[in-house]
Amino acid sequence: MSIVVVGNGMAGSRLVSEIRSRDRQVPVTVFGAEARRPYNRILLSNVLAGVAAPDQIGLVDPAWYERNGVDVRPGVEVVAIDRAARLVHASDCTTTPYGTLVLATGSTAFVPPIPGTEDGLPRGAVAFRTLDDCRAILEAAEGARRAVVVGGGLLGIEAARGLAGRGLEATVVHLAGHLMERQLDPGAGRVLARTLGRLGIRASLDANVTALHAAGGAVTGVGLATGQVLPAEVVVLACGVKAETTLARSAGLAVDRGIVVDQTLRSVTDPHVRAIGECSQHDGTVYGLVAPAWEQAAVLADLLTGADERARFTGARQITRLKAASVDLVAMGETHHGDDDPDVEVLSFADASRGTYKKVTIREGRVVGAILLGETSTAGTLTQLYDRAAPPPSDRLSLFFPGVGGAPPADSPVRMPDAATVCHCNNVSKGQIRACWEKGARTADEVAAGTRASTGCGGCRDALEGIVSWLDEQDSVSAV
Ligand SMILES: Cc1cc2nc3c(=O)[nH]c(=O)nc-3n(C[C@H](O)[C@H](O)[C@H](O)COP(=O)(O)OP(=O)(O)OC[C@H]3O[C@@H](n4cnc5c(N)ncnc54)[C@H](O)[C@@H]3O)c2cc1C
Repeated sequence: MSIVVVGNGMAGSRLVSEIRSRDRQVPVTVFGAEARRPYNRILLSNVLAGVAAPDQIGLVDPAWYERNGVDVRPGVEVVAIDRAARLVHASDCTTTPYGTLVLATGSTAFVPPIPGTEDGLPRGAVAFRTLDDCRAILEAAEGARRAVVVGGGLLGIEAARGLAGRGLEATVVHLAGHLMERQLDPGAGRVLARTLGRLGIRASLDANVTALHAAGGAVTGVGLATGQVLPAEVVVLACGVKAETTLARSAGLAVDRGIVVDQTLRSVTDPHVRAIGECSQHDGTVYGLVAPAWEQAAVLADLLTGADERARFTGARQITRLKAASVDLVAMGETHHGDDDPDVEVLSFADASRGTYKKVTIREGRVVGAILLGETSTAGTLTQLYDRAAPPPSDRLSLFFPGVGGAPPADSPVRMPDAATVCHCNNVSKGQIRACWEKGARTADEVAAGTRASTGCGGCRDALEGIVSWLDEQDSVSAV
């Protein structure tokens, strides 16, 4: 049975390595429309901010494919699927047969249909999704003074922070009444806008972009419904993504917002086709985060290699962490309930002048959502409680202020149970980190290489280092 993977992004490249870690024989071909080795797309925000270089975010070494007998086709797009003959046609005029076809085509950046975008975007205006987009933004930012970012979600805010950090005057234009409205309630959105303001980033809310202005082929500004024009030499469009389902649709597969799959990641239309990552829709949800994509890759590798025929993807909890210098933000689950909602217990604390906003939502004695903005020292405790739908401590204050009242928080490596997830992107527990240490890894880098902890968004790096140094101390104590 040969496996053909379409898309060598974060889901496709992970699937291929998961397959090879279980089975060295099955023929695997992977097509990637981007003409480069796969890279960690999440870290593009860090490249934009100048804290990572493009060559530091590669995911799979090109030599790995040869060593592992994987036929990789960078820069080759699959253009059609012939489901009856079970083969794919590619842009290099080849046809490749498959036993199982895996679609991992991800998403494309949504470009709003506004005047000025009909014939493609003017120079300096970029819809942000790929490394090429990132390079185009950096090129436009060179010597520029003003940037407008259209879209005040996670991606838009990270882009604005990156550009402001490079010295540009940045404005975020957002259609909704507050920033990151999908993850944050209005109170948190207001505090976030204030924090960004202190960092020199303006937020224009309830703002409808009606035109992209250009002169001589280069962008000059963004027009709003109010008639106001925001001048800019750089415009980043971060208006959301659309699952890339063109191939699947043309092949007659069931597509809703994504390619509809069951718990085995199988298309509900064709048992020979699977879909993972942002192009897939499971149980009504299209995930926009890497953790579910990587979990799906592991489940599918188990199924395709026979390593675990009972493996199933049953859905994932979504935790969002902003990667922007001087703006600490973690949000998870249900965050929009008000304290007048009789169905839930809502705890909140705000100190807007210091940029702090904290909120925890508890339903039927379980933590079902939280926001930590500005001060995130209890993020580990809250994510553990949320992950396991666990009951909160009776002294609720300790959820906001570490060590206050009752027991110390479970963030500390000593208190954290072995089952606690440390790296959410890669689903690595403290127990796995300890096991890797016990096998001989002695530094955070070695543990990261052995477990993959901290190699996704990097948000758990401090926790990983904390655990490694605690294990180190334990070791020295027991050696005495
Ligand atoms: C700047 C930025 C920051 C982000 N930050 C975070 C974060 O902090 N945390 C988080 O969890 N997620 C984050 N994300 C989202 C995360 O990157 C995605 O969830 C993840 O990349 C999804 O993986 P995927 O493989 O489904 O899609 P992709 O990584 O987009 O890969 C899809 C690949 O398929 C290729 N392809 C498409 N069609 C074809 C075809 N017909 N033939 C061949 N190849 C094809 C595409 O070119 C692409 O390379 C961020 C995204 C961006 C852009």
